[in-house]
Amino acid sequence: MSEPGSPDTPLFVAVVGSGPSGFYATEALLKSGLNVQISMVERLPSPYGLVRSGVAPDHPKLKQAINVYAGIAESPGFTFLGNVAVGRDVSIDELRATHHAVILCCGAETDRRLGIPGEDLPGSHTATEFVGWYNGHPDYRDHVFNLDAETAVIIGQGNVAADVARILAKTADELCHTDIAEHALDALSRSRIRDIYVIGRRGPAQAKFTSKELKEFGDLAETDPVIDPVELELNAASQAELDEKTNAGGRKVFEIFTEFAQRPPAGKQRRVHFTFCKSPVELRGGDRLEGVVLEANALSGEAFSQSARGTGVQSELSCGVLFRSIGYRGVAMPGVPFDEKRGVFSNTDGRIIEAGNAVPGMYVAGWIKRGPTGIIGTNRADSVATVAALLEDVRNLGHDSGKTGAPGLRSLLDERRVRHISFDDWKKIDRSEVDRGSPKQKPREKFTRVAEMLAVLD
Ligand code: NAP
Repeated sequence: MSEPGSPDTPLFVAVVGSGPSGFYATEALLKSGLNVQISMVERLPSPYGLVRSGVAPDHPKLKQAINVYAGIAESPGFTFLGNVAVGRDVSIDELRATHHAVILCCGAETDRRLGIPGEDLPGSHTATEFVGWYNGHPDYRDHVFNLDAETAVIIGQGNVAADVARILAKTADELCHTDIAEHALDALSRSRIRDIYVIGRRGPAQAKFTSKELKEFGDLAETDPVIDPVELELNAASQAELDEKTNAGGRKVFEIFTEFAQRPPAGKQRRVHFTFCKSPVELRGGDRLEGVVLEANALSGEAFSQSARGTGVQSELSCGVLFRSIGYRGVAMPGVPFDEKRGVFSNTDGRIIEAGNAVPGMYVAGWIKRGPTGIIGTNRADSVATVAALLEDVRNLGHDSGKTGAPGLRSLLDERRVRHISFDDWKKIDRSEVDRGSPKQKPREKFTRVAEMLAVLD
């Protein structure tokens, strides 16, 4: 029997998840020059992961990555199996039995927790819930957010916090020609929110926004950015961070904060307040959120590793809705070793590790490998590295002629009456979304329920 990947024996690889890391892993495998057949398994009928349901609707350029992924999906040797959940419809062991290798590319599906009293009060949400809701992800379709509140609070100062704040800050006119889900546009167009507080536990020199994302707050139709200039005073270590030659991004962000702080308010109907060196210590309310207790922090430590410590000085900010945007976290999967501390699958350079040893044929790429950092393109190099590890191991992946790849997996799903979605099926759903969007001058009107997507095919 010849080696998997040789002309007469395909290397069967299952890729779990259809976001950027899944497609970049697929691309790297298809470019390897080996005879490879890929089964991409995706829980939803729709592919593209966070590019479809994470990237903000008003950032269409970032979604252009989808065109690349759609091209990859048309390659010979690629099979899409949508609407198939690993753990529900098929087990990891079954994927391993039908494929020489499995690459887990399932992202970081939940959020870190603050661990403070009141965190789960109605009115306190994760950024994931809100982002999934406005992007039409079926899991979040029926979430309700208190947009009747006058004040919204966002904890965290990364680009996800910027997305959440911007979507709350924009008018319906600014959003109506994007691919924002209809139910979200309806609710947001009735929003009574006037003040949005975006709160960082560290200072303006440590905010994780990129300058492009921050700058957008200066150009909103009906929202003024507001910063108290006193909050931009820096300690010596923060000044050293901004003076560091390689930190052009940090300097640019600080310049934008400074410009916002110097602007006279234009009297627009909403304000987005950036405030620093404060941590939430308690969320207060009876049946629902009424306010957040903030503790002022002092920074200590060397430049670039300063941490925030509470000073004991507390204040309360009334608010009716709060979003925790403090980073994502991976979710464990039965049968896969999980690093609880880091919230990723235990791995070394993309090889899944159990009790110090690589698990044969098991790999990981993307946020569930390295943690939730970086932009879409960061995942390309990450997936290429994982595939390089897989290709190094290819001789040891077994000469087992019993591997059947996508056809074997499909038979298994058919036996279980699991309705799996091919890429051609997805293209019909896609076309239907685009057609629904066209009369409203939207790039698409997303289906926000799995049943609606499947109904297109009936
Ligand atoms: P992030 O960039 O890591 O930001 C997380 C924020 O939460 C930081 O301000 C962090 O502060 C804060 N935080 C963490 N733990 C906290 C705690 N216990 N209490 C208070 N604050 C806490 O994460 P993200 O915003 O979720 O973004 C994830 C990745 O996606 C990033 O790489 C981001 O750039 C990327 N992304 C990019 C775009 C875009 O390109 N347009 C859009 C969205 C997301 P510390 O710094 O003190 O830890």
